[in-house]
Amino acid sequence: MSGLVVIGASYAGIQAALTARDAGYAEPVTVVTDETSLPYQRPPLSKDFLLGEMGAQGLVMHDESLFASKQIELLAGHRVVAIDRHAGRLALADGALLGFDRLVIATGSRARTIAVRGAELGGVCYLRSLDEAADLKARLGEAGEIVIIGGGFIGLEVASSAAKLGKRVTVIEAASRLLERAVSPVVSRFLLDIHTQAGVAVRLGASVSAIVGDGSRVVAVELDGGVRLGADLVVVGIGGIPNHELAAAAGLGCANGIVVDQHGRTAREGVYSAGDCTTHFSRFAGGWIRLESVQHAQDQGQAVGLAIAGRHQPYDSVPRFWSDQHDLKLQIVGPAARSDRIVVRGSIEAGKFSAFSYWRGRLVGVDSINNPGDQLVARRLIAAGISPAPGEVEDSSCDLRALLKAGDKAVA
Ligand SMILES: Cc1cc2nc3c(=O)[nH]c(=O)nc-3n(C[C@H](O)[C@H](O)[C@H](O)COP(=O)(O)OP(=O)(O)OC[C@H]3O[C@@H](n4cnc5c(N)ncnc54)[C@H](O)[C@@H]3O)c2cc1C
Repeated sequence: MSGLVVIGASYAGIQAALTARDAGYAEPVTVVTDETSLPYQRPPLSKDFLLGEMGAQGLVMHDESLFASKQIELLAGHRVVAIDRHAGRLALADGALLGFDRLVIATGSRARTIAVRGAELGGVCYLRSLDEAADLKARLGEAGEIVIIGGGFIGLEVASSAAKLGKRVTVIEAASRLLERAVSPVVSRFLLDIHTQAGVAVRLGASVSAIVGDGSRVVAVELDGGVRLGADLVVVGIGGIPNHELAAAAGLGCANGIVVDQHGRTAREGVYSAGDCTTHFSRFAGGWIRLESVQHAQDQGQAVGLAIAGRHQPYDSVPRFWSDQHDLKLQIVGPAARSDRIVVRGSIEAGKFSAFSYWRGRLVGVDSINNPGDQLVARRLIAAGISPAPGEVEDSSCDLRALLKAGDKAVA
């Protein structure tokens, strides 16, 4: 078979395949995935799925009939083990070969594993796939004391779900604040309060020295300094790493992700990449970044699909992310960026506010709590390079939408 082959059937891969087809690509399209289920949404895995409010069926991204109607073949349960760029061929784990004219690598990312004594014990879990989520959900049902290693998005979302299920939860975070690399300090503080009020114990600046078992199962987590926390379930959420090894072995440039341009093209003709597994230059970050978000995977996948169909449109979206914790919605627009000034709009006490981050006078990011309206405007302001004056931002009677037309303003 030749035509377009996509490795990875998640947000980026599916978007690339559907877009290429819809934009007029007429050759065969095959999407290969090592997972056996239909493509599914990952964000609910740590939220509604763990809470039992959404089943596996509800996670499915597209009905199977959609792929048939677009003449896209979904090859599930097959792992790609090698890419031969020169021959235009992929090797699958079962020994089969798959030819391609165009290739999209959308292999995503995987959970970073923890390297401490006891890491291999039963009851030490990660959360990335539907299978892992189903396993974690079953274990949560039986667990009483849960220790979560990592105060990032996955850790905090699991903490929120576990607390809602009535479990005793402790979050261990090595940094001095929650979500340090993603949100402004004011939002970190707010989230700390929310988790604490919900009964989650949060230990900041704490490092795990060992996970302790009774032979096969975890019974405690030990911190540097000797503190021991009882645990019958440990969830590790210490970040993700890109699945770029296949690409690297095929000679494609990789630097914390597969290096691509604004159309998702690698340096090799006909080979593209999109999603969590890529690194790209972002004008919003002022440098090369690797993003793990649904918006990024879909938008970059779309740029790839368009490029394959010969209708090039650069990927130039402002990075966006959301997270649901304890009934509040956190939304972030702009790359996790340096800031030298933060301005709050709205009311922290009322739990409805946004933190506007500035760097050298320019608006670079906005984190919002329960404030989708600010997010919509902020996205457009940042995309247009418009920086409202902090005084205007602070004044909640000031209509930020009006500033979209007013153009860039000097920051006081
Ligand atoms: C629990 C959880 C909660 C999340 N919550 C949010 C959220 O609230 N908001 C948000 O924006 N983002 C969230 N994310 C992140 C978001 O899900 C990812 O950014 C997104 O899934 C990336 O899509 P992708 O297509 O790049 O890769 P992935 O979704 O990682 O998919 C890659 C696919 O490729 C397959 N694959 C890899 N290697 C091979 C191979 N060699 N052969 C065949 N197949 C292969 C993998 O098995 C996988 O199915 C969350 C992620 C998780 C795990």
